[in-house]
Amino acid sequence: MRALAFRRSEGLVLEERSQPHAGAGEAVVRVEACSICGTDLRIASGAHRAYANADGRVPGHEVVGVVVEAGDGAAVGEGDRVFVAPNYGCGRCRYCLRGDVNLCETPRAIGITEDGAFAEYVFLPAELVAQGNLLACRDGFDAGTVALAEPLACALRGSRACRIGEGDTVVVFGAGPIGLFHVALARVAGAAEIRVCEPNVVRRDRSLAWGATAGYADAAEVPDGADAVIVAAPVPAAQQRALELAASGGRVNFFAGLARDRSRVELDTNLIHYKELVVTGTTASTNDECRAALDLIFDGLVDTASLIDARFDLSSAREAFELAGSGRALKVVIEP
Ligand SMILES: [Zn+2]
Ligand SMILES: [Zn+2]
Repeated sequence: MRALAFRRSEGLVLEERSQPHAGAGEAVVRVEACSICGTDLRIASGAHRAYANADGRVPGHEVVGVVVEAGDGAAVGEGDRVFVAPNYGCGRCRYCLRGDVNLCETPRAIGITEDGAFAEYVFLPAELVAQGNLLACRDGFDAGTVALAEPLACALRGSRACRIGEGDTVVVFGAGPIGLFHVALARVAGAAEIRVCEPNVVRRDRSLAWGATAGYADAAEVPDGADAVIVAAPVPAAQQRALELAASGGRVNFFAGLARDRSRVELDTNLIHYKELVVTGTTASTNDECRAALDLIFDGLVDTASLIDARFDLSSAREAFELAGSGRALKVVIEP
């Protein structure tokens, strides 16, 4: 089979591999679609920590496909069309036991610590299958559209941390795919005002089409008094501004991680103290959030299809990554 592997010297390279097979408890999925994530761009550039010693590993963690092999005891059948929730854990640590596999002390993920789905087939380890990460894909849905349940699930975890309610005012920094998901989730949660701060005019306008009620190019122009503020842009100044924009009792989510050399940020903690703010951070997602994200897509509440600006097959992967990295497209999908 063909697979797009990370090579330290050259970045991502299309290689010929032997097709994986499933033993007891394991599964093999023929990949229909795998979308490119910011994480994959970091991997391709050689900047991802998990790939520091990963010569030859295959990225790709936003996956929909059909089970072609299911080993004895695997809780899935051949021919099943599935979305693969990529994160799984040891199953034994206190985080795994309470359902937060994304916080596992030894976290594992398809396309991050294990070979992923920028390939014709992806091998799914027994632990992942046993932890219930293969979620049924409803008939009649395009694979790329459903694969976007993965980033949507991450956004959902951040949105839930902000406990957005009916009539709330919400501010979202950033109108990339994740920022747009936050707009959609705020709308679904009943927010009355959704203000988006995004310097790129194309993206800002797109957020208005997604349900934002106002767009701002400059953070200084955003009115204060927000019940929830979500920072979905890797910008230290936006984290500082978020505390100012929050109303008393407001919830803040630092959704985007910052570059390692820029993650020490001076915050006015008196804003947290005197306004009784709840400042949260979230990372990745759990199976529970993936399931909820799939339902949002299947029920037509979040239009992930409209985020897909281009589709490529594996042989055009280089072009796909160039487009995804250019900022000209929101989501680019590879269909092996
Ligand atoms: Zn992703
Ligand atoms: Zn664990």
